[in-house]
Amino acid sequence: MTDSMPENVEIRRSRRRRKTISGRIEKGRVIVMVPAGLSRRAEQKAVDGMLEKLRKQHRRKNARAHMSDAELAQYVKKIDRKYCGGKAQPQHVEWSQDARTRWGSCTLQSRTIRLHPRLATMPRYVMDYVIVHELCHLTTPGGHTDEFWAAVNAFPKVERARGYLEAAATYELKN
Ligand SMILES: [Zn+2]
Repeated sequence: MTDSMPENVEIRRSRRRRKTISGRIEKGRVIVMVPAGLSRRAEQKAVDGMLEKLRKQHRRKNARAHMSDAELAQYVKKIDRKYCGGKAQPQHVEWSQDARTRWGSCTLQSRTIRLHPRLATMPRYVMDYVIVHELCHLTTPGGHTDEFWAAVNAFPKVERARGYLEAAATYELKN
């Protein structure tokens, strides 16, 4: 992943679009979709706004992707305080490419949490969900019990995050 957003911007004008503007980064270029028939000035303004939004998103993503293990540990502590009342208290946190660990893993004896680096490129709520899941293994030991799931399900975007990860796993298996 590169640090700066691609320079190449493609504007797609759609007649079916009335008001909505959207944008995404795809294969080394930025695609901005705008309604057809806007004045040149209105279109320029809409595109600039979208580029600024995408630039911010891109920066945030990169900041996470470049986190060291120590920074990741700090981040996980923050999530612990925010969602688990600071009770999980992991001792070691690290990125791990180990395929067997899937998106995340937790070792109870050493209170170690390992996270897959791919998470850093996913939306923040998805990464946070995986962290909450692993933290709940520390606060609610005993595996995937009802009590464990009750703790995990208190996280706000649980269903969305699970859907995202399922799609990502399917995609990765196929590719
Ligand atoms: Zn688990």
